[in-house]
Amino acid sequence: MALNGKAPFSVAIIGAGPAGYYTAEALSADHLDIHVDIIDRLPTPYGLIRAGVAPDHQSIKNVSKRYATTNSRDNVHFIGNLELGRDISIQELKALYDVVILATGAPSDRILNIDGEHLENVYGSGKFVGWYNSHPDYKDLKPNLNTRSAAIIGNGNVAIDVARILAKTANEMADTDLADYAADRIHSAPLKDIYIIGRRGPLEAAFTPKELGELNKLDNCVPLVSNQHLPSEGKDEELTGCTKKNINLLRQISCNEPSLSKINLHLLFYRKPIAVEGPQSITSLSLEETELIEGKVSGTGNSTNLNCGLLVTCIGYKSSPIADVPYDTGQGIYANKDGHIEGNLYCVGWARRGPTGTIGTNKPDGKEIAAKILQEISPQRKQGRAGLEALISERDLHIVTFASWKKIDAAEQAAAQSGAPRVKFTNIEEMVEIAES
Ligand code: NAP
Repeated sequence: MALNGKAPFSVAIIGAGPAGYYTAEALSADHLDIHVDIIDRLPTPYGLIRAGVAPDHQSIKNVSKRYATTNSRDNVHFIGNLELGRDISIQELKALYDVVILATGAPSDRILNIDGEHLENVYGSGKFVGWYNSHPDYKDLKPNLNTRSAAIIGNGNVAIDVARILAKTANEMADTDLADYAADRIHSAPLKDIYIIGRRGPLEAAFTPKELGELNKLDNCVPLVSNQHLPSEGKDEELTGCTKKNINLLRQISCNEPSLSKINLHLLFYRKPIAVEGPQSITSLSLEETELIEGKVSGTGNSTNLNCGLLVTCIGYKSSPIADVPYDTGQGIYANKDGHIEGNLYCVGWARRGPTGTIGTNKPDGKEIAAKILQEISPQRKQGRAGLEALISERDLHIVTFASWKKIDAAEQAAAQSGAPRVKFTNIEEMVEIAES
């Protein structure tokens, strides 16, 4: 029961990642009358911070401390291991809460739509990154890394993350939370060549200078790029911001020589994948040279074949459709107008705008949706958490609270060795058992 004996304004946020937490922060800060329940299908909070951000980018993961502070407020609760669609429907949540906000991100990989894409050892980055980051859904992926050559499609930061994690040595990864089973495969792989393939040029690349620059500082890997695709120096005054920094970095990289002893990381531009080949598992990738005509990618008809035994596509993500929620198939997001879906249903973050921006982009996004909700919704003061708890008990569901997540957190940290921050659990039953101990 909240202020003045009235039931609180109840909000359910689905998804305990950055978008969910920034929205909870904005809604709960100055409004003690608003009670926010952050619901996640996993027993663990923090979404992409835990399972998407690269394991060697621990400083980025520190933002979870801010989310824990939000969760320490009396009017914010985490309810883990409760899955929309399995344990509760969207209709039930909409009936229980004054407002329901989908902050479920974009967990499904976009596909290339080319022949052979479904051969073995071809993975979307959502799956591959989830695998090395101990996501329970992908712990059993078992990619075959017994290959000398790997290809990565896409010119965004995820492509760079994947290449860097494949290229770093065990020593370079010692103080990370890379999954042990992934470390075993990656660090015994005979990789000699990694290719990052962009269908457009360096001026159009989506990666940021910090991430590109990291490639030039690896112990056992030399990035390489041909001068041929870099803009001539005479046009530098036309370059600005990240693009200018990226081009400067690429020029430095273009001075590197191929190595006989280290992994060579080839940055290939103006090539689009046209077919994946192999009898059962990928053995090569067919690429067509491209040119830009009025900014659009156009194939030249010249194709080459790249031998590779592993392919990771890093070409973006889409939200997963939910029964009874309007979905925009083209954009891969929930159909919404400025975050409003319909009635008391809203969305935020990647579920609203697609997979763009950094973790920090979710902060203004969360504030904006919170302000919109406060302006648009006259709370009916529905049952909120009391009603949800009754339903949880009736269905005998084993949910995880924030206090019980802290037991999982402590056990993961206690298991860590040699400077690693934690050893993540990958098994949901095991996590729930610890939470309930
Ligand atoms: P992204 O930045 O949108 O890059 C996707 C790349 O895939 C683009 O180069 C795109 O090329 C290419 N692509 C799309 N469809 C393709 C196709 N059919 N064939 C060939 N190439 C295709 O996406 P992302 O790398 O997945 O990253 C998602 C977001 O997370 C981004 O905002 C990113 O900055 C952020 N992120 C940040 C960090 C960090 O800050 N450290 C780390 C990881 C991710 P076109 O440009 O030609 O479409």
